[in-house]
Amino acid sequence: MTTISNIDLHCHTTASDGSLSPTAIVARAYGRGLNVLAITDHDLVAGVEEGIRAAEKCNALLLAHAPDAPREHYLKDTAEVLSVDNGVLDRPDEERLLTVIPGVEFSTTWNDEQIHVAGLFMDINHPRLQQLVQSRRVARTERALAIAAKLERLGFERPYERCVAAAQEGATITRGNYARLIFADGKAKSVDDAFHQYLRRGQPAYVQTKWGPIDEVIEVVTEAGGVAVLAHPRRYNFSNQRLRRLINDFKSWGGQAMEVSSAQQKPTDRDYLANLCQQYELLASLGSDFHSEGMYRDLGQNLDLPAHLTPVWTCEAAAKFGLSGDFKQRLVHVTYHKEESPASQQAATAAQFGAISSTSHQASSTPAKALGRPGSIVHL
Ligand code: AMP
Ligand code: MN
Ligand code: MN
Ligand code: MN
Repeated sequence: MTTISNIDLHCHTTASDGSLSPTAIVARAYGRGLNVLAITDHDLVAGVEEGIRAAEKCNALLLAHAPDAPREHYLKDTAEVLSVDNGVLDRPDEERLLTVIPGVEFSTTWNDEQIHVAGLFMDINHPRLQQLVQSRRVARTERALAIAAKLERLGFERPYERCVAAAQEGATITRGNYARLIFADGKAKSVDDAFHQYLRRGQPAYVQTKWGPIDEVIEVVTEAGGVAVLAHPRRYNFSNQRLRRLINDFKSWGGQAMEVSSAQQKPTDRDYLANLCQQYELLASLGSDFHSEGMYRDLGQNLDLPAHLTPVWTCEAAAKFGLSGDFKQRLVHVTYHKEESPASQQAATAAQFGAISSTSHQASSTPAKALGRPGSIVHL
């Protein structure tokens, strides 16, 4: 069974390592019945305005009941709706409006570990935020070129240029972009496998990077009128004690929220994070971390905040976007009967890079492994 939430506060577009443009991701959000979507690309906010404009346009079409207004179409032929919590499946157009929230996902370094901190609800034109984005851009470009040099030595053709061409103008090129390129070129069984073989610490295309400190990010996001959110705390592979230390530092530096619910997450992990969230008196956020089409990570997918937590959208900063405690999460429970094959995923990824698609490697591992069952992936 799959649950689709009408609010998702973490996703990526072609402004960083996502495969869909901001306009396309917004269209997908309407298709899946979302009412609130935060665009949180890595270290920049270049996709936000396009997303907001696309939603404004679609909302106007819905309010006019125009024939070309976006439809909900997450109900594929292969899907069956089991139930809907807090609402009905066939909603009137007025209940299908989408609000795009400005967001960002900053990379930071804490005790030599790479930690991601999302910013939500901030003014993306705030001078200090723009400054921080600019300095990250310089660091990211340097690193992306260093990774490309390694990949070229390993036989990949023009990796940096091809990633730039597949992303939007001015995008940040992350390891996520390279992982998709490696997969597209048929040199790995999946995006995850590309990380294992090439991009992780200790692998041949890894480049060590020192990002800025967490407190700087919290300060800038807060000053820009936003809320700092500790992203996917369960994915750092930390011991309980180390994670508590991280959350404690995050909170003492002014961080206000943490992600409790993510797409590829076991219920036990969500409950564990819910406990920590409550203990440290943080606001609870939720986000799919959607990057590209796949079975286990999609907009709104598998996101469910326990009712006893205080959702992040009740904070003061969210009020600017019409959100308050009155907003209730709606969940549609669906089953899909057919799984996508890894080979079709590889073909779709290859098409994005105008690839050099290889015949040398048949993506032949089991679908579950290639696509990543819930909990099987360590993504940052
Ligand atoms: P970077 O910020 O350049 O180090 O790249 C990190 C990005 O790579 C993350 O945001 C994910 O999108 C992606 N990523 C990290 N680990 C994995 C993995 N094991 N499999 C697939 N993608 C990953
Ligand atoms: Mn990413
Ligand atoms: Mn992310
Ligand atoms: Mn992340």
